[in-house]
Amino acid sequence: MFNNKPLEVTFLFIILFFSSILAYNYYNTYSFKHNPLPQSYQISIKNKENEVLKNMKSHYGFVYKFPLIVTDKLQGKLYGVTAYENGHISIYLNKNVMQESFDYIIDEVIPHEYAHALLMQKGYLNESKQGHSQKWHSVCIDLGGKECKQYVNHEEIINGKLPFN
Ligand SMILES: [Zn+2]
Repeated sequence: MFNNKPLEVTFLFIILFFSSILAYNYYNTYSFKHNPLPQSYQISIKNKENEVLKNMKSHYGFVYKFPLIVTDKLQGKLYGVTAYENGHISIYLNKNVMQESFDYIIDEVIPHEYAHALLMQKGYLNESKQGHSQKWHSVCIDLGGKECKQYVNHEEIINGKLPFN
């Protein structure tokens, strides 16, 4: 008689294995979303910011530090925005895409937004129509960005009231 028990057991284990991966991923996503940013993330962001500030000092001889705020209020696939509000420039990073795109946020988004912030600080506020200008690109590279490309189709530079808070 043909006995297919071992096959059934094998399938059962395969199903259990993949279910546990799904459950684990779900738990990870859930806990990331509902908890403060893990310390390892905060440290990586801080380290990258210090690197950007060091590059700013060595290329331009000055240091402007802008508030770097992690928020879950940004909509959609936006990685970050730079906002000029009541005379203050702030950079917001999108927590909602941070877990899946953290390396990209560290390598690209922080220098990218810092370059916008620095140009705003230097009075290029009216460039918001063409925020990703040649000037912006060279600042972004100087600050340590690798590619310095526009990563969303619409602008992520906000002059005026924030779309949240
Ligand atoms: Zn940009």
